[in-house]
Amino acid sequence: MAAATGAVKTAEMTLLRGLEGASARISYHVGMFKDSSRVVNVISGFPDKRIGLILESTPFHPVDSAWPDQPADKGEISVKSHSFPVESCEIFAVNTTTQEVQERSSIPKKEREGWSSVIVHVIDPTDVDPGTLLDETAECTVDAEFRTRLNLQHSACHLAAFALNKACAELWKKEVPVDSLGNGDFDSQFNISSLLSEASAEDVYRIGKSGKKTFDVATLESTLDTVNERVNLMLQEWIASGVDVTIEADGDTLDDKRVWKCMLPDGEAVMPCGGTHVRSLSAFESIAYSLGLVSSGKEVRLQATTTAIPSARE
Ligand SMILES: [Zn+2]
Repeated sequence: MAAATGAVKTAEMTLLRGLEGASARISYHVGMFKDSSRVVNVISGFPDKRIGLILESTPFHPVDSAWPDQPADKGEISVKSHSFPVESCEIFAVNTTTQEVQERSSIPKKEREGWSSVIVHVIDPTDVDPGTLLDETAECTVDAEFRTRLNLQHSACHLAAFALNKACAELWKKEVPVDSLGNGDFDSQFNISSLLSEASAEDVYRIGKSGKKTFDVATLESTLDTVNERVNLMLQEWIASGVDVTIEADGDTLDDKRVWKCMLPDGEAVMPCGGTHVRSLSAFESIAYSLGLVSSGKEVRLQATTTAIPSARE
């Protein structure tokens, strides 16, 4: 339960009043650490008398429990003279007709019509009456150091995915979907989990029966050292280019599509992503990559560790 995502749900989650408006607006994708916004609603019913603040717009990046690769931001929200540490920041959904509150990941994507996505900042209100927070201005301050370290590991993880795709490009037996650089997309075909921390990114790949028909696993297994060497060399070359990283968004709400872009010497790397990132590859001193075999046989599992070190100039 809770540990992975911080999400703890009870049956009695309720809004303090009816929710107006559509999906939550966000500002973290453009690199904001601070923002002030109105408290539009409060959810009660979290364990230990915690409550969830819903803001008109937020600089806090929430964890998405459907794909919890980037952890929630840390930081503080001040309302009136009270300062509340943000204990977790999560995505919930509110049914616009019944006002029922659910963790969004518990509702299948196809069934989300009639539900509004909200970002919930979980706080301990201590002795403050939650009702008095409604419509007040919340001053949000995100822990910039923590976010900056996650930005670094998240961008490194994307670069490593493109480098791995390129290093494995010759091992496909059939035509498969390609990444934006034109290489077979090993990462999106076989990645089953991705987890970022301040220090590194861990990606797990699973190649099952059907994957083995399209991809030459045996050669990958026997040439892992060469693959790792190639990936590391590519990463070194790419970060030396110091090119910009941009996030292109269709809009400023949580549900708008966002895309990570980076013009590498090999072409433009493009990947859909809801997370936060460095602004340029000059943020890196180095990136170390290591792909290892976890298990072999009917089903092959591999784990990649990507460790980014920030440039001293950043
Ligand atoms: Zn991403």
